[in-house]
Amino acid sequence: MNNEQEQPKRESAYMQITRKCNNACIFCSNPAFDKELTIKDVEKRLQFYKDKGINEIVFSGGDPTESPILIEAISLAKKLGFTSKIITNGVHLSDLNYVKELKNAGLEHLHISIHSHIDKDSDFLTSRDGHLKKTIQGITNCLDVGLHLDINTTINAVNIKYLSEFIGYLINKFPKINHYVFNNLDIGESDKNLRSRAWYHKEVIARLYDIELELHKTAKLLINNRKTFRMERVPLCYMSGFEQFSTETRKIIKEESYRCIFIEKDKKDVYMELYDPRKERRFKGETCKSCKMNPICAGVCVEYYDLYGDSELFPVFDNPDNVILKVKGITNEKT
Ligand code: SF4
Repeated sequence: MNNEQEQPKRESAYMQITRKCNNACIFCSNPAFDKELTIKDVEKRLQFYKDKGINEIVFSGGDPTESPILIEAISLAKKLGFTSKIITNGVHLSDLNYVKELKNAGLEHLHISIHSHIDKDSDFLTSRDGHLKKTIQGITNCLDVGLHLDINTTINAVNIKYLSEFIGYLINKFPKINHYVFNNLDIGESDKNLRSRAWYHKEVIARLYDIELELHKTAKLLINNRKTFRMERVPLCYMSGFEQFSTETRKIIKEESYRCIFIEKDKKDVYMELYDPRKERRFKGETCKSCKMNPICAGVCVEYYDLYGDSELFPVFDNPDNVILKVKGITNEKT
């Protein structure tokens, strides 16, 4: 039996552990409120996931580092046989001792959110002064103790003006980081009670025709530096030549699911399992009907269509089979 056969298949799921957050990003699709899990809640939810055959937990929020039981939750997850990851803005990771505690508890991987390398833009986007320095220190601390991490960036009208320069800065400063995730900001409702903050700050929504050039420059930069990446909520007509890095397209082709237990504000928490990203509040226009990428593209968010219509979409006539082969790893191209 070779190493590949010995590895159990990774079955991943998300668990919101708190809805508190120490940032207040003006594009946040999951605005904070004062509700969080107890360790008993975590235990029940881990057991629920274990029964479903899940073996990897991603603790999210809010910001999970705001939870007083995060370290205990990671230890418990490890005891029950889960691999643990967190998604965080990295501000609390500027405390090296806290990072060591997370690692000792069993944390294996982080997704750290950072949206600009320019102080004033970061202050504006996160609504917090001085947090950029803390996040940078947090990334440094994690790498210093040997933790693996990916970068998460929300594409918005501010950072899209210099996205490639920003990512170039991170590549130079943190050469050990190999994977970057870009989320085109989510304008939608996080639930029925709570709209995304971007809905009230439409000035931060990047229009598709404004993102095209910088997305291409950023993709080229990452590929040239042998980094991998994913782009979410970007229709394939804006990802020509690097469609295989679309998060939704990969999920469609690989039939991967998304699972999360959400903490809800004024009602019972919900478990959500989503198998097809094309069904997640997405819109396809008339033009999509003649587009060859249609079967493997998730389109645009319905809220984006409600605000701006579909005039920015255009059909693509390239062969989608080439994208499918790349996603399946049948070609030699590193994805
Ligand atoms: S035209 Fe429609 S189906 Fe084609 S790539 Fe654009 S959004 Fe996707």
